[in-house]
Amino acid sequence: MKGIDGKVALVTGAASGIGRSTALRFAEEGAKVVVSDLQVDAGQQVVAEIEDAGGEAVFIEADVSKESDVARLVDETVSAFGGLDFAHNNAGIEGKAGPMAEMELEDFQQVIDINLTGVFLSMKYEIPRLLERGGGAIVNTASVAGMTGGPSLSHYYAAKHGVIGLTRSAALEVATENVRVNAVCPGVIETPMIERFTQGDDEAKAGLLEDEPIGRLGKPEEIASAVVYLCSDDASFVTGHPMVIDGGYVVP
Ligand code: NAD
Repeated sequence: MKGIDGKVALVTGAASGIGRSTALRFAEEGAKVVVSDLQVDAGQQVVAEIEDAGGEAVFIEADVSKESDVARLVDETVSAFGGLDFAHNNAGIEGKAGPMAEMELEDFQQVIDINLTGVFLSMKYEIPRLLERGGGAIVNTASVAGMTGGPSLSHYYAAKHGVIGLTRSAALEVATENVRVNAVCPGVIETPMIERFTQGDDEAKAGLLEDEPIGRLGKPEEIASAVVYLCSDDASFVTGHPMVIDGGYVVP
């Protein structure tokens, strides 16, 4: 894809699932990649995979819900590779499921802290670095849960709606400064998150499949290619857009 080779890309939640695939895809397209996550061993494995394929990457441990971690992550990215061009703010959790009336405030807040405040903090520290470079692109991971409602995961749905709001607002704040901000809204994608959510229960998995008109679940690589496209020069007129990649899940 145009305009990725030689650039610097930061991916959060990059030790697993969608973030891992995006990190690998950025590297394949020639970007230098910062792989960030809480999971150190798995994150370093992603770096090793990139290096084995001839790419350049470093691992930086950071919790996206902690402001001091995010500030350090962005500073260390710039120290490692001389600047920042692209960010995929992707780290997230599914949270503890349950109806709202039974949900503990602490469980609600944990999902908001990681899935929503984490995206705010990431953009807060990334945007000035992109402006220093004269431009760049950010892609936030929202979800089809940012466009619909759903029982038992109200914190998750609320956070993902919020990610779309943050994305649209940030896009307008920097629209004239050569920085584009978009979101991806995946449907059900086969990652460890979905394994945890269904707890190996075939019936639960079959239920998820029923929601996918295309007849299968998505693959993390199918989200990664959209993220890298949105960062590329091929998407030069695309900003503030929540891109749905869901096999038809939210078709009205
Ligand atoms: P995953 O569990 O495979 O990966 C998530 C990664 O985020 C993990 O490596 C985890 O360690 C990391 N992480 C969690 N909390 C963190 C924190 N506080 N700081 C830094 N890293 C943290 O799950 P995934 O399916 O790849 O999910 C990635 C993103 O995609 C999430 O935002 C998720 O909500 C979103 N999403 C997933 C699906 C799906 O069906 N899998 C659908 C829509 C959206």
